[in-house]
Amino acid sequence: QAEKETLEFQAEVQQLLKLMIQSVYSNREAFLRELISNASDATDRLRFDALRDESLLEDDPELKIRVDFDLTERTITVSDNGIGMSRDDVVNNLGTIARSGTRAFIDSLTGDQAQDARLIGQFGVGFYSAFIVADRVTVHTRKAGEDPDYGVRWESAGEGAYSVEYEHRTQRGTAVVLHLRMDAEEYLDGKRLREIIRRYSDHISLPIVMPALPTDKAKDETKEGAAAEPSEQPTEETVNRASALWMRPKIEISDPEYIEFYKHVAHDYEEPQNWVHYKVEGTHPYTALLYIPSLRPLDLYAREQTRGVKLYVRRVFVMEDTKHLMPRYLRFVRGIVDTDDLPLNVSRELLQHNRLIDTIRAGSIRRILELLEKMAKKEPKNYQEFWTRFGTVLKEGVVEDTSNRERIAGLLRFCSTHDTSDQANVSLEDYIKRMKPEQKAIYYVTAETLGGARRSPHLEVFNKKGLEVLLLHEPVDEWLAAYLLEHDGKPLHSVAKGELDLGGLEDAESKAALQQAQEEYKKLVGRLQETLDERVSDVRVSHRLTDSPACLVVGEHELGAGVMRMLRSAGQ
Ligand code: ADP
Ligand code: MG
Repeated sequence: QAEKETLEFQAEVQQLLKLMIQSVYSNREAFLRELISNASDATDRLRFDALRDESLLEDDPELKIRVDFDLTERTITVSDNGIGMSRDDVVNNLGTIARSGTRAFIDSLTGDQAQDARLIGQFGVGFYSAFIVADRVTVHTRKAGEDPDYGVRWESAGEGAYSVEYEHRTQRGTAVVLHLRMDAEEYLDGKRLREIIRRYSDHISLPIVMPALPTDKAKDETKEGAAAEPSEQPTEETVNRASALWMRPKIEISDPEYIEFYKHVAHDYEEPQNWVHYKVEGTHPYTALLYIPSLRPLDLYAREQTRGVKLYVRRVFVMEDTKHLMPRYLRFVRGIVDTDDLPLNVSRELLQHNRLIDTIRAGSIRRILELLEKMAKKEPKNYQEFWTRFGTVLKEGVVEDTSNRERIAGLLRFCSTHDTSDQANVSLEDYIKRMKPEQKAIYYVTAETLGGARRSPHLEVFNKKGLEVLLLHEPVDEWLAAYLLEHDGKPLHSVAKGELDLGGLEDAESKAALQQAQEEYKKLVGRLQETLDERVSDVRVSHRLTDSPACLVVGEHELGAGVMRMLRSAGQ
C-alpha cells in the first residue's frame, strides 16, 4: 500500500521541461495563474459531481483556493478542496501530457525559444509551468470521496523522473508545493503574490484566499527569522473578486479582464483576437461570452476536438462542449455559455435534441457572424488576419449552414486575377463592384495550387477581355463552389465548365471569327474525336484560349476536376 514508485516522465514531458527550464520565459509569473486555473477547474468538477453525490463534499462544502508562502522553507503552496486525484490520475495527468495534440506539439517545435514558449500554452502544459520557478515540486492530493489512506504524494525535480506514493491525507483536494529556485525568491512576498493573483486570476469565480498580510511589526519579526513564533493563527482574506466575470455588466469589465478570462477558459497563452459578450433576456435567458482566438488551435483539423465552448448552468460548470453549442465551421470559437434553464444534471445526449440549446446555438452563430462582419468592415487588417487563420474552416459554413449561407458568403475572401497578391483579400462584394456592365456572372477557376490557378489556360480569354476571375485553390473550394451557386443575384460560373457564354461581352467580330474557325477546323475536330474516342465526350473549337492550343473542359453539370481527383483517390 505504501510502496513508492519512481517513474519516468513521458519523453514529451521531458522535452517540455527542458524547454521550460532553459527558456527565457517572457512571463514567469504565469506559473501562479496556471496552478490557480487548475485549482479552479478541480473545484468546478467537484461542484458538478456533487450535484449527483452530495457526500463528495464531505464536511468541507465551502469550495476555495488557497495560496500560502513560507519564508523559511522557501515554498509557495497552491491548494484547493476540489475533486483531487487518485494515484492513477496523478500518474496520467502529471507524468504525461494528457492532450491529444501532443504529437503535433512536439512536431511543431521550432527551436525558436520565444515561439516554442508560446506553443507551450496552447497545449495545456499548465501544471508543468510550476518548474519555471521551482526546482522541486511536491503535490499532495486526495480524490473526493476516497479514503484518507489513499492520499497521494507526487514529487519531482523536473529532471526526467518523478516519484509517487500513498500518504495519509485527511484534506480532500490538491496542494501543489513549489520549492523555489534561488532566482525566484522575489515571489516569496505576500504583496507581490496578491498583485499577481489580482492581475491574472481576478475572474476566477470562487474565492482565492491568502493569510492576512502581517502587520509591519510582525513582518519584521518574520524577516529576522530566529524568534518568529507561529503564535497567532493568521486570519485569511479573499484576494480576488470571486464572482463569475460573465455575470458582471459589460461596462464594468476591462479588456485585460476579458483577456485573462479567455486565457483561463481557452487554456491559451495568447490574447484572443476579439470577443462578444451578451445577455439574452426573455423566457429562456442566457449569457454568453465568446472569443475568437488569435492562434490556430492545434486540434483544428483533428478528428476529435478537445476544446470548445464551456456550458454553465446557473454559474455551475457542466461540461466543455465541442459539438452542440457551435457548428463545425465555428469550431475555433472558445468561451462560455451560462443558462438558468437546463437541469444541472444535463447529459451530452440531452444536448443533442434540446430546443434551448438550438436557440442558444443559433443566437451564438448570429453574434459571431455579426462580430466578423463588423471586423471585416471596420478593421479590415484584423479581419485579414482572422481570414488567414480560420478562413478555410469558415468556408465549410457555406456547405454546412444553409440558413446563414448568404451571410457567410459575404465574409469569404479569395485571391483573384485583379491583383497578384497571394493573400486572399477579394470579397464577392469587391468582385461584383468591379464587374463589367454587361458581365452576368462571377467567374472562378479551381486548381490545386494558387500558381496552378494563375497559370490556368482557361483564364486566357478572360485576361484578354479584362474580366476578373476568382482563383480557388483550396481543397474545400470545389465543395464551396458546388453549394455557392450565386451571390447577390449573380451566378457563380466556373471558367472550366461547359460552353463559355460571355453574354454581351461577345463582340460580333469575334463571333464571326469563331464561326469561321469552326468551319475551318471541322475536319481536324472530326479526327480528334475519332482518336480520343471514349476518353472525351466532345471536341469543340473554342475561343477560350488565346495562347494555349487546347484545354480540357468539364461538362456544365459534371463535378469539377478537383472533386473528381478527390473521388478517384478515395477509390470511387
Ligand atoms: P490542463 O489544465 O490544460 O488540463 P494542466 O497541465 O494544467 O493541463 O493540468 C493537467 C491535468 O492535471 C489536469 O487536466 C487535471 O486533470 C490535473 N490537475 C492539475 N492540477 C489539478 C488540481 N489542482 N486538482 C485536480 N487535478 C489537477
Ligand atoms: Mg491547466
